[in-house]
Amino acid sequence: MISIAHPSIGEEEKKAVLEVLNSGMIAQGPKVEELEKEFAKFIGTKYAVATSSGTTALHVALLALGIGPGDEVITSPFTFIASANSILYTGARPVFIDIDEKTYNLDPALIEEKITPKTKAIMPIHLYGQSADMDKISEIAKKHNLLIIEDACQAHGATHNGKKVGSLGNAGCFSFYPTKNMTTGEGGIITTDSQDVYEKSQVFRAHGSKIKYYHEVLGFNFRLTDIGAAIGIEQLKKLPGFNLKRQENAKILTEGLKDIEGLLTPEISVGNEHVFHQYTVRFSGFKKTRDEVNQILNEKEIGTGVHYPLPIHKQEVYKNLGYSDSLPISEKVSQEVLSLPVHPFLKEEDLKEIIRVIKEI
Ligand SMILES: *Cc1c(COP(=O)(O)O)cnc(C)c1O
Repeated sequence: MISIAHPSIGEEEKKAVLEVLNSGMIAQGPKVEELEKEFAKFIGTKYAVATSSGTTALHVALLALGIGPGDEVITSPFTFIASANSILYTGARPVFIDIDEKTYNLDPALIEEKITPKTKAIMPIHLYGQSADMDKISEIAKKHNLLIIEDACQAHGATHNGKKVGSLGNAGCFSFYPTKNMTTGEGGIITTDSQDVYEKSQVFRAHGSKIKYYHEVLGFNFRLTDIGAAIGIEQLKKLPGFNLKRQENAKILTEGLKDIEGLLTPEISVGNEHVFHQYTVRFSGFKKTRDEVNQILNEKEIGTGVHYPLPIHKQEVYKNLGYSDSLPISEKVSQEVLSLPVHPFLKEEDLKEIIRVIKEI
């Protein structure tokens, strides 16, 4: 089986975890602080605050920016459900706009018509490892005085005009789930240049207190452990190498697949460096449907993923909240996309096999 994802835990991570286990300090401690410093440096922000997951990073970042009941946040319906759920957790309402058909990211041309007096922020998703159109999104945010929370959970190290995503808005949020470009087991992190967001995020992460046992606001236990952080510090050192391998694998796949009729390979927008969290192709006008191709690939022992089969506004939980949007591009694309293996541990023969089997289909 050629797997769709492959977390890589080496001797360095194992040694670092053992050191933490032997230290007697296994919850949030010095390793979390070290990971925060190193990650902020890597992204190019002044601060970082580690949390228990990408989802809690988004939730805390929104709270730290003052998003809450009565507010609206404009975002994409074509993403993992946690993006929009994090907005709901704060009491605010996600407002969905459709995506660009080439990059699958938020279509900036559709943002302004959805802005109301309640709109507080835009949450672009850097889907599959490629930056959203941040020039246009930033311009609109500036014009209408809106905040930007980047969901960079799939885009560790991706750049836009030479700057890393996570440094382009008021806050950036990353996930360290095992399938992402780097991992801590479960975990996440917020990046920001704002001292206020930094300090408030620390408060929301730990029961709403600055001084132990004195609680200013309703906070949470969203801490990362030093065990996870020790893994993350080693993973961060390897991340540039992992990303390079993903990019090389993507290049080989695109070279092999680009001339197949009805199969669209990923497009990289001008100014973007894509880090290929996913290598996602689209079957549009192909001889077989996405689901048929998917089944054949799985029978031939090639792991795949559908990211995502149902846009968020069509999910049961959102329909029950009264969402009835019609967002045709998201709805069409969700029937046509298929992610192929691109992780750094694929061998050349694995890539050749993927290309061979798809050509055969
Ligand atoms: C993975 C992911 C999340 C959530 O991260 P977790 O660490 O799983 O909580 C949020 N948004 C996007 C786009 C993701 O891919």
